[in-house]
Amino acid sequence: MSNAPSPAVRSEGTRAGNDAQRGISNTLAYSRTQAPATVRCAWCGHQFDSTDDHLTGRVRCAQCGVATTSPWPSDEQLGAAYADWYRPTSGRFSGLGDKVLRRTRSALADRLHRLVPPGPVLDVGAGDGTLAAAFVRRGREAVGLEPYATGPHIRNAAIEDVDGNWSAVIFWHSLEHLREPARALTHAAGLLVPGGMLVIAVPNATSLQARAFGDRWLALDLPRHLVHLNPPALLSKLDALGLRVERVSYLRGGQVVFGWLHGLVGQLPGHPDLYDAIRRTEARQAAHSPALRLYAFAAAVAALPFALAATAVEVAARSGGTIYIEARRDPAS
Ligand SMILES: [Zn+2]
Repeated sequence: MSNAPSPAVRSEGTRAGNDAQRGISNTLAYSRTQAPATVRCAWCGHQFDSTDDHLTGRVRCAQCGVATTSPWPSDEQLGAAYADWYRPTSGRFSGLGDKVLRRTRSALADRLHRLVPPGPVLDVGAGDGTLAAAFVRRGREAVGLEPYATGPHIRNAAIEDVDGNWSAVIFWHSLEHLREPARALTHAAGLLVPGGMLVIAVPNATSLQARAFGDRWLALDLPRHLVHLNPPALLSKLDALGLRVERVSYLRGGQVVFGWLHGLVGQLPGHPDLYDAIRRTEARQAAHSPALRLYAFAAAVAALPFALAATAVEVAARSGGTIYIEARRDPAS
């Protein structure tokens, strides 16, 4: 998305930022933008009507239960939403955050390197290429697809433009950013070698935390998240693609504890945004005073025991804030 945002879009972005500072949720701020209402489910293609659930900033499909962001953002709006502040070259998080991110990607690469057959892996929505680089360090060829970044293992291409034979295709918190996620999965399944693996981590829109925090849930992330998926919709799609689901985890997908922490802190007066507070100054959506950051951090420390307990409950109930899936193509096919 190389288009520069138009002035009109930029002023919408500023308004969303101002709304965030006034304690209005990003979801509500986005729902007030002037983009056209969404007419179809981005997952199953169902045409929306009065039977669907019209929520703030999204519509939940009566056919498949997946919600689609509405209004449907233009390319210009998405370009503005992924502007430099979202992922600056200096890294997104302050202090330990980026280090933790690198370590968890490294652990994921270790696991998948053991599980998948020899051959290259494709990371769709690769960010700055941390996961692809972790595979390369293990001696495995890896390519990351990412429209908003450059790097030694990164290509600016859509999954539909990729061909060849791949040992694994990974959608690590990227499927929800795609305009046609079901089509992307279908194409990805066709790229797998026999025994190859499709790996998906996405926010779980029917999780306990999604229901607890509603329009303020961290992982709604409008308008960047275009679809809001649930486990049954994903699993039935993988089944239809002929893949065998080998693992479903409600913890491995990451962000579960942070989803609770962010939600609990956001309930406080002034609705402090913990996600913005942990980001580097240049990576924040709205300006934060040091006092507001301190308030958010102190609240997070106080809320941590509750967040850990809530995480344990929702993971045990198999209703965690993220869903992680490993699905394999039949080795004999
Ligand atoms: Zn649908």
